[in-house]
Amino acid sequence: MDFTGQGVLVTGASRGIGRAVALRFAQHGARVAVHCQSNREAAEETRALLPGTGHVVLQADLADAEAVRQMVDDAVSGLGRLDVLVNNAGIYEEHCLADVSYEEWQAAWRRTLDVNLIGAANVTFCATRHMISLGGGRVVNVSSRGAARGEPDYPAYGASKAGLNSMGQSLAQALAPHNVYVTTVAPGFIETDMTAELLQGESGRRIREQSPLNRAGLPDEIAYVVAFLASAGAEYSTGTIVDVNGASYLRS
Ligand code: NAD
Repeated sequence: MDFTGQGVLVTGASRGIGRAVALRFAQHGARVAVHCQSNREAAEETRALLPGTGHVVLQADLADAEAVRQMVDDAVSGLGRLDVLVNNAGIYEEHCLADVSYEEWQAAWRRTLDVNLIGAANVTFCATRHMISLGGGRVVNVSSRGAARGEPDYPAYGASKAGLNSMGQSLAQALAPHNVYVTTVAPGFIETDMTAELLQGESGRRIREQSPLNRAGLPDEIAYVVAFLASAGAEYSTGTIVDVNGASYLRS
């Protein structure tokens, strides 16, 4: 995989999967825009880890459409060009129907959809406008196993990721005439801050047992597939959703 000379924007790259994705692309020659919501210090730490030069750090709340537009414009001017967008940022907030109030329920759905789905849709709009004018590009969405398997305690999250899957499929069809290729990765449980608590103790043991590998995945195991899908040669995979879940949930 060679991304030399390419500009890559990774949302939510201050930590976790996003940081691993930023690292992967930089290792393969790309200049990376490391986006964060508010933790600029952590995003700067990500940038410091990246080999090569020309990387930039950008801040925006993905639930704020105007901030998203500015962030993407800054990514394009900071990198000089934008070839790849990785929609990685996301939130995972518990809201068990039987336990929360109606107000809490609505707030969880609103927040989750605003960031995970509408935020990603807005970043994609702004980024692919640049790609179209450049003659092409790639979008890789980070979805979740939960979109297909169900998320009983995080239903808005499951729905947001199912929406992201569908968005990726529709945009793969819409943007192919512009040489913009859109794919999706659906991780199972990965060891990050997002899942740190769940992966402890008895719940961690049960989660690891879901996979015949008897472990959770590592951030770079997602980053590897993201980079592959964005690489030259993967064009005909446009529209695909790739499960990366250690055989914990199989479908055909
Ligand atoms: P993480 O919590 O470590 O990282 C998520 C990132 O998204 C953070 O950098 C955070 O700042 C950013 N973010 C959250 N809300 C934002 C907002 N409003 N505006 C801008 N940025 C915002 O989580 P992670 O485990 O690295 O997850 C990365 C992606 O992978 C997410 O989309 C998540 O849903 C998905 N995923 C993770 C797992 C897992 O087990 N860790 C499994 C399936 C899918």
